[in-house]
Amino acid sequence: MSVLVLGSLNADLVTLVDRFPAAGETVMGGDFTVHPGGKGLNQAAAASRFGAAVAMVGAVGKDEYGRFLQTQLDAEGIDRSGVEEVHEPTGRAIIEVDASGRNRIIVISGANSSLDVKRITSTLQKLNPKVVLAQLETPLEITIEVFKLAKELGIFTILNPAPFQVLPSDLAPLVDLIIPNEHEARLLTGVEIATVEDAYVAAGLLMKKGYREVIITLGDRGAILKRLKFQRHFMPFSVSAIDTTAAGDAFCGTLTACLDRGMRTADAMRYASAAGAMATTLMGAVPSLPVYEDILNFVNANSSIEGEAK
Ligand code: ADP
Repeated sequence: MSVLVLGSLNADLVTLVDRFPAAGETVMGGDFTVHPGGKGLNQAAAASRFGAAVAMVGAVGKDEYGRFLQTQLDAEGIDRSGVEEVHEPTGRAIIEVDASGRNRIIVISGANSSLDVKRITSTLQKLNPKVVLAQLETPLEITIEVFKLAKELGIFTILNPAPFQVLPSDLAPLVDLIIPNEHEARLLTGVEIATVEDAYVAAGLLMKKGYREVIITLGDRGAILKRLKFQRHFMPFSVSAIDTTAAGDAFCGTLTACLDRGMRTADAMRYASAAGAMATTLMGAVPSLPVYEDILNFVNANSSIEGEAK
């Protein structure tokens, strides 16, 4: 097994609105669908669709949505021996998408909050993956324990710090690569990210906190990569975005799968950026994640002008 994803599994309850309601206002929704989601499941699916052997650790409830998500993991070819069934209800996300493709999301953690650290660390030891990828929709104290063990075992660790929460200072040395989006980067550093230069400044501050390698995703402005003596801006691929849900998940999962294949981070950025862009062209989370062949074809067919290394 080469990629282990520690993270959330949610049923995504998605509705379309012409515009978001203001506080106290009611608007009529359009189409309503239920999709598999959760940052953990989305990123695991993205990595698996890029061809990585992926296992997931997490939890679902003993309910209809739990069974729905387990079936989805099987369909994606993801090892779910580390996904526990617990008494709490399966996690849910209530997602509104407006006419311009922007989204607003409320996550109800449910089962995702009741993970058993001993079970997860023993799964990590048993599977001994090459890379571990985690987000912040499952308890941070468990991620810290898992990353500590991963470092002892020489496993590469990637943290997508989403949704934002304050991170303890002792986490940084346990993280080989951190991938916030621009909002999370601003909240982690206090830097308003209006330009690519601002993103470099924010990444520099994260490095001062002890993070060795930083990617900041910038939505339709692409992404930056920064580590000691190296920084580069990667322009986005040009697409017609209709739903930005899971763009970051497509990016993180694909990037992880690329690193698992032994690619350099700078090379992996190209495929991850393509996957992120492609995910915005379809509705939903998992249904919008592209597969390996389509990503390769998309990268070959679309030229992305990369910024100069500085
Ligand atoms: P998140 O979903 O976490 O907010 P981003 O919106 O930053 O993440 O998207 C992740 C990556 O996906 C970006 O760095 C970019 O490469 C790609 N991407 C996202 N939105 C677009 C878009 N509208 N056009 C082209 N690429 C996009």
